[in-house]
Amino acid sequence: MTNNDIKIQVLGSGQEVGRAAIAVWSKERAVLLDYGVNFDEEDRPIFPGHIRPRDLDAVVLTHSHLDHVGAAPSLYVSVSPKLIATRVTLDVSRILLYDMIKLNGPYLPYDESVVDDMIDGAEAVEYDQEVNLGNFMLKLIYNGHIPGSAGVLVEVNGSKILYTSDMNTIKTKLMDSAKFDGIKVDVALVESTYASYNHPSRDETEERFCKDLKEVLEAGGTVLVPAFGVSRGQEIMSLLAERGCEYPVWVDGMIRQVAEVYSANPKFLREPELLRKAMMEFNIVRGWSDRRRAYKKPGVIIASAGTLKGGPSLYYIKKLGADPKNAVFLVSFQPPGTPGRRLLEEGVYDDLGTPLLARLEWFDFSSHTDRRGIIDVIRELKSRGLQKVILVHGEYEGQLSLKEELENRFDLEVLIPENGDIIEV
Ligand SMILES: [Zn+2]
Ligand SMILES: [Zn+2]
Repeated sequence: MTNNDIKIQVLGSGQEVGRAAIAVWSKERAVLLDYGVNFDEEDRPIFPGHIRPRDLDAVVLTHSHLDHVGAAPSLYVSVSPKLIATRVTLDVSRILLYDMIKLNGPYLPYDESVVDDMIDGAEAVEYDQEVNLGNFMLKLIYNGHIPGSAGVLVEVNGSKILYTSDMNTIKTKLMDSAKFDGIKVDVALVESTYASYNHPSRDETEERFCKDLKEVLEAGGTVLVPAFGVSRGQEIMSLLAERGCEYPVWVDGMIRQVAEVYSANPKFLREPELLRKAMMEFNIVRGWSDRRRAYKKPGVIIASAGTLKGGPSLYYIKKLGADPKNAVFLVSFQPPGTPGRRLLEEGVYDDLGTPLLARLEWFDFSSHTDRRGIIDVIRELKSRGLQKVILVHGEYEGQLSLKEELENRFDLEVLIPENGDIIEV
C-alpha cells in the first residue's frame, strides 16, 4: 500500500542515538515528532535538520530528555506551532531547558522567555486522547520509558504510523511496561538504542545494587550514586524507599526538583507511594550546610549528574573518592567522552588528584528496552498488519544486525535511514 502524499522525513536520530526529530508530511503540511539535540566533544549542542515552523500543524514532544526537546524552542522564536505533550513532559522540559540555557546559553538561538512561551502555550494531553489538527489525528501512547513519556500514533489520509520514541518493555519502580497492545499500524518508527544488546534482568540488578550498598554501609563507608536528574534519580529513590535503608539517604541537585513534579502528578507513576515515602524520609540537600553534612557519616548520596559531568556529584566525588571505605555506584549509561566513562575505563577522575580509591560499580538500570524487547514489540505489531519498520535512535552496526534478524523472521521491510532521508509511506 503506497500513499505518495505521505512522507516521513528524518531530521535527526538517523543512524545515531539521540537528537530525535521526525517530520510526517501530508502534502505541504507536517507534524514534527520531537526536536532534540546532541552535544559535541566541547559540549556544544548539535541541532537536527531545519524545518520551517510555519509548515507545522503540530509539534509533539514525547518526553523531557534533551535529545528529544532541546531544539524545540528554536521553533517558537517567531511563530508558535501548536505543541502537545503530557503535563509531566511539559513541566520537566521547562526545568531541563532552563538548565541547558544556564550551561549553553551562548550557543542557543533562544532564551528562557521563548521556553516559557512554548510551554505556557502548549496543550497538555492525556494518553490515548485523540487530537485532531489539520489532516492529522494524533494520539499519545504509553511507552514505559520515563514518567510522562509517550509514543505517538499518527493517522493521516488513511495511513497509520507509530513512532515508539524511547521505550521500555519491562516494569520499573517508576513505570509500567509499554502498552502497544491493540495498536494497528502500517509503519513503525522504532528506537534501537540497544539493537545489539540485552540487559540483565532488572530483579538481578536491583538485588546486586542493594547487596553491594549494604556491604559498603556496614563497613562504615558512604555510597555516592551519581544519577541523571530526570527519572534515574527518582528510580533509585523509589528502590531505596521500597527496600528500606537504615542509614541516612541524601538527595541533591535537579533530582529533587524533578521528583517534586513527579510527586505532584502521581497518576504518571506506577507506584507513586514509593516516591512520596522517599521524599518524606530522605534528606533533601537545600544548601551548602546540608551538603557539607551529607558525606560526614555513613550513608547514601543520590546526586546529579549521572555521568559526573557537572552538578553536585562532582563535589561529593572529590570528598569521598580517595577513601577506599567509600563507593561510587554508577547507575546510568556513560557515553564516551564523559568523566564517568573515563572513571570506568581508567579508574581516573581528573579533579580528584589521585586515582579513585573508593569502590566503583556500574549497574544497568536502563530505561530503554533491549534487542529482545524491540523484537517483541515488532512481532506484536506485525501480528496486526505492520508492513514497514524504520529503525531510528540507534547506531548503524546494531541496526544492521537487527534488520537482518527482523527480515529473516518476519515478512517485513526494514529501513535504516540517515539524517535527511525522506521515506514515502
Ligand atoms: Zn532519546
Ligand atoms: Zn529518553
